[in-house]
Amino acid sequence: MQASILSRISTVAKARLAQSPAATSGLASVSQHRHASHEADLVVIGSGPGGYVAAIKAAQLGMKTVCVEKNSTYGGTCLNVGCIPSKALLNNSHYYHMAKSKDFLERGIEVDNVKLNLEKLMGAKDKAVTALTGGIVHLFKNNKVLGLRGHGKITSPNEVTVLQEDGTNDIVKAKNILIATGSEVTPFPGIEIDEDVIVSSTGALKLKKVPEKMIVIGAGVIGLELGSVWSRLGAQVIAVEFLNSIGGVGIDEEISKNFQRILTKQGIKFKLSTKVVSASKEGEKITVSVESVKDGKKEDLDCDTLLVCVGRRPYTNNLGLEELGIEKDAKGRIPVNSRFQTVIPNIHAIGDCIHGPMLAHKAEDEGIVCVEGIAGGPVHIDYNCVPSVVYTHPEVAWVGKTEEDLKAEGVEYAVGKFPFAANSRAKCNNDTDGLVKILGDKDTDRLLGAHIIGPGAGEIINEAALAMEYGASCEDVARVCHAHPTCSEAFREANLAAYFGKPINF
Ligand SMILES: Cc1cc2nc3c(=O)[nH]c(=O)nc-3n(C[C@H](O)[C@H](O)[C@H](O)COP(=O)(O)OP(=O)(O)OC[C@H]3O[C@@H](n4cnc5c(N)ncnc54)[C@H](O)[C@@H]3O)c2cc1C
Repeated sequence: MQASILSRISTVAKARLAQSPAATSGLASVSQHRHASHEADLVVIGSGPGGYVAAIKAAQLGMKTVCVEKNSTYGGTCLNVGCIPSKALLNNSHYYHMAKSKDFLERGIEVDNVKLNLEKLMGAKDKAVTALTGGIVHLFKNNKVLGLRGHGKITSPNEVTVLQEDGTNDIVKAKNILIATGSEVTPFPGIEIDEDVIVSSTGALKLKKVPEKMIVIGAGVIGLELGSVWSRLGAQVIAVEFLNSIGGVGIDEEISKNFQRILTKQGIKFKLSTKVVSASKEGEKITVSVESVKDGKKEDLDCDTLLVCVGRRPYTNNLGLEELGIEKDAKGRIPVNSRFQTVIPNIHAIGDCIHGPMLAHKAEDEGIVCVEGIAGGPVHIDYNCVPSVVYTHPEVAWVGKTEEDLKAEGVEYAVGKFPFAANSRAKCNNDTDGLVKILGDKDTDRLLGAHIIGPGAGEIINEAALAMEYGASCEDVARVCHAHPTCSEAFREANLAAYFGKPINF
């Protein structure tokens, strides 16, 4: 893409382009594309994990593909302000915490004067983000996807107008359009986010100092991950949650209780069944008024940083949907059929802006099968096999049905459990918090759900997803030779317990 732009402009302009942020981000800059028009088989709006993966797949399938992105870098929420920066902070804050706490001492590692260099920690996170967002530039180039910078608006069923900041437009005529515009932070009514001390997840990824006291509104996945980061770095963290459990939608109750116990042991405090009524800031102090859902008891909590993490909502602003007659559902999502087609068959939508869990890998998979469908292939995703992971320490991960789901559906099930305290690798690593819980069909032994809290849960869960995709039984999993010593052996043992009633090592 960059080569074709450069061939059309003067040497001076080339030099300017080379210095521009758009050039370094790999997105075609505004001035070089003044009123340009393009023809494509597919135009993708949005370059998050859904959009950029779909664009690459489409190009690999032989479609002439354009991807429109309004931000200065590719990668969407996930790479810029989501999965990637949060995991970089989680990883490095965990190292710091191990070095700072008695954990290292217990391992026979004596380190003096452990200090946090927050600027450097943030720098390491930024480096990961830059490397990965920049990587998409190369992937687009290698796969011949044309990236255009600007706000994509669908101006007819076969046309996307790319609105640029200086008021000029590009026009892309395309046989097919794919909306992958993702989501944005859900605001909390009455609380104004300044991304400085009253922050959303985006601001919590770049705080300039470690808060003394942080209140997190919402003990879902993102709130717990970011709360963990700042707790490990030294903040006193209180998570206020409306529900009476933590971990968000889809977590197994037993795992959630274990999770809360472990995080409490790590120093995070929880106020469950508690609703936040309002928050106000006076000087450095933020007062958060809360009320018990059970008895209405009111209380004022104070902090110096407030993290608002009450969820995300689909982002479809100024996309042209209303003009085209594409109506959104009550949650602001774009309705699609099983081939990801909207009511206009050549306009598709995937990822956070449609139904289903707001997860990067779900958006990616939808992107791939959607464009395979456009190319004439079959389209199928089993949402029951989409895993969820909370990247705290220990990690929490699950796939398939919870015990509560199975009870509600009247399915008879067998339970197999194995604690990491009995797993040899976890013991070697002195990292024994947690368990694997397996749910198998009582009659057929088919693996119905896997719920893990423990070391490497986010990796082990992929084995469960694979087994479930292929309709494996618990016995099938238990009979697969697992390398020793690994934490995955706990997964095997729990499957053994589910089908045979007894594991070996516990
Ligand atoms: C702090 C945090 C941590 C997270 N951690 C994880 C995790 O560990 N694992 C996980 O699976 N998920 C995680 N998520 C969720 C994940 O980021 C999203 O599910 C995922 O990014 C959705 O992908 P998407 O492609 O649908 O949309 P997005 O990633 O939101 O991308 C949409 C893109 O479209 C662009 N866009 C929107 N409208 C237009 C327009 N009109 N024209 C041009 N461009 C437009 C946006 O600028 C954006 O770049 C996390 C989210 C957050 C906030």
